[in-house]
Amino acid sequence: MAALGNPTSTIAVLKKYDFNFQKKYGQNFLIDANILEKIMDAAGVTKADCVIEIGPGIGTMTQYLCERAREVIAVEIDQKLIPILTQDTLADYDNVTVLNEDILKVDVNAIVRERNSGNPVKVVANLPYYITTPIIMGLFESHVPLESITIMVQKEVADRMQVGPGTKDYGALSLAVQYYAKPQVMMTVPAGCFMPRPNVDSAVIKLTRHAQPPVTVPNEKMMFDLIRASFNQRRKTLVNSLGNTAGLSVKKERILLALEQLNLPPTVRGEALTLHQFADLTRLLADPSDSV
Ligand code: SAM
Repeated sequence: MAALGNPTSTIAVLKKYDFNFQKKYGQNFLIDANILEKIMDAAGVTKADCVIEIGPGIGTMTQYLCERAREVIAVEIDQKLIPILTQDTLADYDNVTVLNEDILKVDVNAIVRERNSGNPVKVVANLPYYITTPIIMGLFESHVPLESITIMVQKEVADRMQVGPGTKDYGALSLAVQYYAKPQVMMTVPAGCFMPRPNVDSAVIKLTRHAQPPVTVPNEKMMFDLIRASFNQRRKTLVNSLGNTAGLSVKKERILLALEQLNLPPTVRGEALTLHQFADLTRLLADPSDSV
């Protein structure tokens, strides 16, 4: 079994199996041992941990995880990679399970129940960038028992998760991430650390799950429906973007009244509201006694 995390052994594995990168799966494999060790440190993986890795590729980061964790479950969509992982690069480890599944379709809660008795897991991954947001939102919204998520993402997306109102990067992803977790950019990673090189800069971000969300709302789904509707038409006023969204069915008069109660101007845009203000707005709009 080759020790991965450098260009030579990566190229050897790719040649041995005549493997062609699939652009549609966002395949950019890590080839830098130093960065891999730093990701392990950032994730704080120990022998007490059960780790879920999304997209093991040829198993580079998986080898590092197997060394540090008690158990690793690696979920890979590309069928061609499965024999490479199970019969070659991970064959010497007895603490790893490779699942040939789409992370957006597999029941991660069931995996955590079966493999870790429903106790919180750590997610560690060099994510396929084309589905970063649905993966993160899926993990949070399905309430998978999580301690933390440490992931390589496009640098711009890492920035978006950390910012507050008043910046162009602020959006639904920032609010969702900050509702569920504390985001922390751990390092930036140059394109030369991957094969093939991506066209964008990358960063590792750690999302540490809050024990309790920083705001309480009567209806979490309603708050995120409001948030999504506000940012779908971010240049419009909140009254117009919410009032025009089919499915929300909130009357403009009701939104105007809520804004007044929150001391916000009638022309305010969604992008100006903090998480606390979205929570207050949800509370007001969800209250039937308050209807206009
Ligand atoms: N972890 C490896 C590394 O760091 O070298 C590979 C990372 S590569 C950026 C992303 C991996 O995710 C690829 O192996 C790709 O096939 C896999 N992948 C893409 N879409 C997926 C999905 N929907 N579910 C599971 N794995 C997926």
